Amino acid sequence: MTHHHEIPSYLKHDDLGPWGVYLEQIDRVTPYLGNLARWVETLKRPKRILIVDVPIERDNGTIAHFEGYRVQHNTSRGPGKGGVRFHQDVTLSEVMALSAWMTVKNAAVNVPYGGAKGGIRVDPKTLSQGELQRMTRRYTSEINIIIGPNKDIPAPDVNTNEQIMAWMMDTYSMNQGSTASGVVTGKPISLGGSLGRHEATGRGVFVVGCEAASQIGMEIRGAAVAVQGFGNVGGVAARLFVEAGARIVAVQDHASTVVRAGGINIAALQAHVAATGSVAGFHGAEEIADREQFWGIDCDILVPAALEQQINETNAHKIRAKLILEGANGPTTPGADDILRERGVLVVPDVIANAGGVTVSYFEWVQDFSSFFWTEDEINLRLTRIMREAFGTVWQLAQEKHVSLRTAAFILACTRVLQAREMRGLYP
Ligand code: GLU
Repeated sequence: MTHHHEIPSYLKHDDLGPWGVYLEQIDRVTPYLGNLARWVETLKRPKRILIVDVPIERDNGTIAHFEGYRVQHNTSRGPGKGGVRFHQDVTLSEVMALSAWMTVKNAAVNVPYGGAKGGIRVDPKTLSQGELQRMTRRYTSEINIIIGPNKDIPAPDVNTNEQIMAWMMDTYSMNQGSTASGVVTGKPISLGGSLGRHEATGRGVFVVGCEAASQIGMEIRGAAVAVQGFGNVGGVAARLFVEAGARIVAVQDHASTVVRAGGINIAALQAHVAATGSVAGFHGAEEIADREQFWGIDCDILVPAALEQQINETNAHKIRAKLILEGANGPTTPGADDILRERGVLVVPDVIANAGGVTVSYFEWVQDFSSFFWTEDEINLRLTRIMREAFGTVWQLAQEKHVSLRTAAFILACTRVLQAREMRGLYP
């Protein structure tokens, strides 16, 4: 099928990073795509990749250069959509995979977008606020040629927030000479942001968690939950699980791991993280030094809400949870997927579990276009309805086809993307 195609080197199929994981996921879904499999190569190549140099003047007068990316994986169903990540480990392979997962996610929950993602390889903790602003503005100017409210709409991701979205919106608007609030989502409320956007990803994790738990006869009340990542996703999900009567028995972040079988006081931990930058040194729980021990913690629900490839063939057999909710993008490798499925652990995949964020981004974009803003109740109601519907459809498909929820979500999403691809046809 593809034998006569030259595969560009940056698409290497032996990539051991996130892009390789994504390609394996596509290979696993291909047998279920019927005649649409003719188009599957479309999903194995991003539509457009932009690599930019981002120079800034440091506060001390020296010049620093950072490498930035914006990848538009697919626009068959609508404009590109996806976050921007600032992290010292950002690579092109990672941004490509993240952009592709956005294509799948947006199609899985049926919001009218393709998939895109951006990033800068930088540890933002090493920058002053002024340097962070200059870097964000220069990056936005560099990717200005491919973004826009109808072209590609960035949003927050790891280490980016409302303030960075405000700077991006302002930079784009200054370049074009008028305010374009719909060019990014995840903005501050005062600049056309949406109520409920900040909590949306964590809320979506919680909503699908409740649906999944009820399918396997698990009560949320009294359940023990372990969370990796205590940012916008893990922190909010943890709070909602506690409000529903669960207890958080372990939290791991970039710096440390804290455990307490009786349940961690999440408000206190949040205050500690706000003050110190991490869970390290929190007195309300026991701190454990060996990071790997986190995976063997006794719990019912595990929420990986940090980075990719955390659950892999070396730790998947240790996991004691019966339910895994992927708050992060790409936290589980295909090898780990197989081990978990064999062991009867239910995995709700990222493309459903964390789709609440982009779903409310869609609401924000719609509100910006109509300059008419909805109430928070309305937003949460619509979010909950979309998440439940998507989960229900994927659950049913998984039962029918005897496949994992991930493969079912990919069947649903890739079918939608490739149907659009086929109907639009090739140009010229
Ligand atoms: N960065 C989030 C994600 O990975 C949200 C993207 C968006 O809202 O566009 O889904």
